[in-house]
Amino acid sequence: MPERIAPLAREVVERIAAGEVIERPASVVRELIDNALDAGATTIRIDLHEGGLRLIRAVDDGEGILADDLPLALKPHATSKVHSLDDLARVATLGFRGEALASVAAVAEVEITSASDESGLACVLRAGPDMPPQMAETPRNRGTTVAVRDLFALVPARRALLRSARVEAGRVLAVVRAYALAHPETRFTLVNDGVVLLHTSGSGLKEAIAAIYGSDVARALLSFGPLEAGDAMITGAVASRAFHSAQRDHVVLVVNGRPVANRAVLAALEAGYRPLLRKGRHPMLIASLALPAEQVDANIHPAKLEVLLRYEQPLSAALRQAVHATLGQAPLNALDNGGSLVSSGFVRPVPLHFPARRARRMTRLGERRQSYTSDTDDDADRPALDADPGAWEPLAQFDETLILARTPGGHLVFVDQHRAHERILYERLLQRRGDLRAGADTPESGDAAQMLLQPVLVELSPLQARQLEPRLDELRALGLDCTPFGGTVFLVRAVPHLPGMAQDAAAIAASLTEDAATDSNDWLDVVCVSLACRTAIRRGQALTPEEQRALLADLRVVSVMTSCPHGSPLLLHYSRAGLARAFEW
Ligand code: ADP
Ligand code: MG
Repeated sequence: MPERIAPLAREVVERIAAGEVIERPASVVRELIDNALDAGATTIRIDLHEGGLRLIRAVDDGEGILADDLPLALKPHATSKVHSLDDLARVATLGFRGEALASVAAVAEVEITSASDESGLACVLRAGPDMPPQMAETPRNRGTTVAVRDLFALVPARRALLRSARVEAGRVLAVVRAYALAHPETRFTLVNDGVVLLHTSGSGLKEAIAAIYGSDVARALLSFGPLEAGDAMITGAVASRAFHSAQRDHVVLVVNGRPVANRAVLAALEAGYRPLLRKGRHPMLIASLALPAEQVDANIHPAKLEVLLRYEQPLSAALRQAVHATLGQAPLNALDNGGSLVSSGFVRPVPLHFPARRARRMTRLGERRQSYTSDTDDDADRPALDADPGAWEPLAQFDETLILARTPGGHLVFVDQHRAHERILYERLLQRRGDLRAGADTPESGDAAQMLLQPVLVELSPLQARQLEPRLDELRALGLDCTPFGGTVFLVRAVPHLPGMAQDAAAIAASLTEDAATDSNDWLDVVCVSLACRTAIRRGQALTPEEQRALLADLRVVSVMTSCPHGSPLLLHYSRAGLARAFEW
């Protein structure tokens, strides 16, 4: 006999629902911060004991909860923020379901102390999974304190999924960090077992970044926006390419004040910086979108970690472009990172209150960087790169690798000849691609292509052949004339016309065809990058002064003068002022 179906008891339902929203201390903290921000708090302090496993307490100075409403705050689906279906379609607050506090109270002991006026008196409500609500009074200024004790104490299976206090504290720190960046006008403090993990002053993004990542990163900050993209406003900042990390954790996306994950948008952000950073490295990046509430749906994820954006594609494209342009225009200042291309990674806050062992390590890091950076304002140096590389005067070629040049402003630049040429060729190819996309006349194959003396046969796998087939037109526009030759064999008659093509055109023809058959949406980019790389001037090639000058002049047309298409730096820059400082002139 099958088991009979029966509705679950209310407490069981609540505990199951709670599990969807409340997973660990970090998810509780997220909800508590949302509530404090919704209440208009300007100061939010989070205290943890044992990473939040024993205690999570959020203290805010927001508008508070009316004494009569306090018991309702813990009831499921009771909220002050949404009243009708209509409201739900355009939620302007971070919370709206009215279930966060109820969910927390289903799996932990909760105590809310709140004052909604200046009387100096607050109401206290205490409740828990097996504790009836009790009310009391206590002195307190306007604002709310929510204390959550012994998370999942009565749900051992969930408790067992939590990690050590240290790991949980780390996760909370990541949440608070993201909120501090998303709301830089709000003061945030996070304390774990008496140790301050984070403290921001509420005086803007730059200060918040300085508090979180250190002043070196804040000084090297490149801001973008406000930019309009449809109904949306985009603002953000990215740390210069001298700072990067192996983790993606420092890429923060904020939608209407809520730090969120949105795979497509995050991928677009990455596409914006990927060609400018080394493989596997990520910048410190914050991008904030402000858009009409009805164009965002935060209701698709139980914990509101993901949102659905109505105009995701154009927004992603605008963000990618903004990040790319911002990061791409800032040259690496050689003196700022000691001429070394290897960055020290993110500099952590210099934490007076951090445990001694950690603080010592950080200080060493700081000292090492100090010897390279100057304490004067290096902002003044950064844009000093004269915009027109056609006006740069080549001084010498170093080891048949680098061109040393002097800019009209008296700055010194080192240009990697291979990477510079690669960048130029790559952008020319992009141009051809763009012409094609824009529906302009397909470039005459005479211009774009160069016939091979001997056509090349390329045999692919069936999968590769299937992938290549629909791409042949676009390849032809690029100058690669490739036609099916029966089965999975293709015949290449012409290759893109590029100066460096002459030497091993046949080999290039074959490898380009394979590149074009890769299983990736980025295939065309892969083709362009590899084409540029294979035909660019090599290192070890002597260049006459005229050739050097011509190469620099060609850099004039590129959109990104600072790195090759693989993301490695192509240009180092010693500013006049930086040299003067370094030599103590
Ligand atoms: P929601 O935020 O979705 O409304 P919650 O369960 O998080 O649901 O909170 C329920 C209600 O309690 C909120 O609508 C709000 O009125 C009140 N509340 C919770 N936390 C605070 C706070 N820190 N300050 C003021 N009001 C609060
Ligand atoms: Mg809430």
